[in-house]
Amino acid sequence: MQQTIFGRTGLTVSRTGFGCIPIQRIPYEESTALLQHAFDNGVTLYDTANAYTTSEERIGTALHHVRDKIVICTKSGALSPDKVMENIENSLRLLQTDYIDVLQFHNPPFVPHPGGEDGLYDCALKAKTQGKIRHIGITSHSKDRARSAVLSGLYDTLQYPLSYLSTDEELALAGLCREHNIGLLAMKGLCGGLLTNAKTAFAFLRQYDNIIPIWGMQKMSELDEFLSYEKEPPLLDSVMRNVIEADKAELSGNFCRCCGYCLPCPAGIPINNAARITFLARRAVKEYWLSQEWQNNMRLIDNCTNCGHCKEHCPYGLDTPTLLKRQQKEYFEILAAEA
Ligand code: SF4
Ligand code: SF4
Repeated sequence: MQQTIFGRTGLTVSRTGFGCIPIQRIPYEESTALLQHAFDNGVTLYDTANAYTTSEERIGTALHHVRDKIVICTKSGALSPDKVMENIENSLRLLQTDYIDVLQFHNPPFVPHPGGEDGLYDCALKAKTQGKIRHIGITSHSKDRARSAVLSGLYDTLQYPLSYLSTDEELALAGLCREHNIGLLAMKGLCGGLLTNAKTAFAFLRQYDNIIPIWGMQKMSELDEFLSYEKEPPLLDSVMRNVIEADKAELSGNFCRCCGYCLPCPAGIPINNAARITFLARRAVKEYWLSQEWQNNMRLIDNCTNCGHCKEHCPYGLDTPTLLKRQQKEYFEILAAEA
């Protein structure tokens, strides 16, 4: 397993990180086995969040006995100092540890700074002084906010969605982070399941020596696949470049990245998958996305009241209600063609 230095945190971490959102969805004993298998094979960076239900608890259960050999990055999405402190205490308890390596502000709507009226940054500094956290990071889905955070000099790490579908401007964040010695975590390297060629996704991001992808994994086979790439890192070749070009052609423009910041929808529409379901039906497990359950979900789009909540909260500026209606139409066309 190749190692790298995680920016100005100075921490040495594996170049493959473990994104711990999906472990919430599997039986407890499976997540324990998965996390321990990752550690046994050299994965030393684990990214989680207070918001990911049982994720922190599962990491604590599986890995507390090797705490000093791993790096844990967690997040608080709270917008008041009291709540942030409560989140930190909660994380410490669930992770079965007395320190968090990196506490990240979880996609805040602004860049917290010392002395800010919100009190968030000062709260993180206090937790750092108390030894509860060691470094302060930030996650964002907004390119401009991510840039501001790096340029502010206040953050040790940045987490941003990066994949082979990213624009040149987004990928330029890697250079900016290198210049400022900021650790860079790449979330959504497979675009929330839209990209199905993991080898190409791995090889693409591996070109950037300071990008640490946190692959979201919930199956042993997925983990083993990434571990096999670590043993013999694939280089981007012409076949992979063709895959990238074809995916860019199909997915370019206004596609939903599945970030979920538009949720909850008052009409109960599972927007983060409904707004990209035709891609999922064509690229992922078709039987699942065309199931009765998803047909019912897609019919919920008829109940959209155009309240505007999703559109206002989408960091990619998508016209979500229009996108949903378009996806609904195409979805039922696909379904009819399959019948
Ligand atoms: S505009 Fe429609 S889809 Fe968007 S949040 Fe409101 S009801 Fe839900
Ligand atoms: S519509 Fe926008 S906010 Fe909602 S999941 Fe998709 S990309 Fe994220």
